[in-house]
Amino acid sequence: MNIAFIGLGNMGGPMARNLVKAGHAVTVFDLNQEAVATLVGEGARTAGTPAEAAREAGFVLTMLPAAAHVEAVLTGPQGVLTGVPKGVPIVDCSTIDPATARRLAEKAAAHGNPFADAPVSGGTGGAAAGTLTFMVGADDALFKQAQTVLQAMGKNIVHCGGVGTGQVAKICNNLLLAISMIGVSEAMSLGTSLGIDPQVLAGIINTSTGRCWSADTYNPYPGIIETAPASRGYTGGFGVDLMLKDLGLATDAAKGAKHPLMLGALAQQLYQMWSQQGQGKLDFSSIIRLYESPQ
Ligand code: NAD
Repeated sequence: MNIAFIGLGNMGGPMARNLVKAGHAVTVFDLNQEAVATLVGEGARTAGTPAEAAREAGFVLTMLPAAAHVEAVLTGPQGVLTGVPKGVPIVDCSTIDPATARRLAEKAAAHGNPFADAPVSGGTGGAAAGTLTFMVGADDALFKQAQTVLQAMGKNIVHCGGVGTGQVAKICNNLLLAISMIGVSEAMSLGTSLGIDPQVLAGIINTSTGRCWSADTYNPYPGIIETAPASRGYTGGFGVDLMLKDLGLATDAAKGAKHPLMLGALAQQLYQMWSQQGQGKLDFSSIIRLYESPQ
């Protein structure tokens, strides 16, 4: 199939590569010419604008930093909607707020194009391995169509409901992840300061009722899980600033719905404080260092 792919960053680059590998004819666009050149070297075609990339496409995918970028790429003067043929599906895989996803779906529908939100989890490792989870907000017909394309990039493709529900699933999961990581950090740091061996404590938690992904797979205490960012100086994971962005989406959505978000609001402030201290690029599990006593 002819696929237009816009946004070739840490996630979009490897995702587009997997589409090429699966035999699709992929036309790419990104502001970063280096990222474009890499994909062209691997068999993709390039275009001068998002509109041009979408002109002959049978399917359009976007993977951009935030809502403003998605809005500009789709609805801007040389945006996808000015070039894409009617009826061609547009699927946005970026993490943005559900309200913008729904608004973009209305704009796309006015041009005769179905729109779905399909944010992902699985990180850059999952993007490279083609094992991402896609959380898809779309009607039944578009979900079936999208599945055939998304399966070249992901292992689990989940239909969450109508447009916007993919983003709802994504931000609720990351809200819980942010909170659970702080909880595990608090318990691990209290235990060690009270004199228990951190390995013993982690072993107890991971076979007891405190067990969760933040404890048994991604433990924030260095040396507990060899493959976790905590064991390599909190590098190469999911950055504090990215988590902060997702917490902003959750707290904004909650505000819009007049829904209380007590722990989410506190978590947001703690990650914000950590980012303000210059730690925004570290993996989010580095939040445990907020519990260190000052030297
Ligand atoms: P990134 O910053 O690495 O890549 C974004 C790309 O978009 C860049 O190449 C940039 O040049 C391009 N871009 C920006 N504005 C553009 C425009 N107007 N036109 C064309 N290209 C433009 O970001 P990423 O890590 O690939 O993340 C993309 C999305 O996926 C984000 O919404 C992020 O929250 C989400 N996400 C990231 C991860 C992760 O681990 N990195 C995991 C899950 C979800």
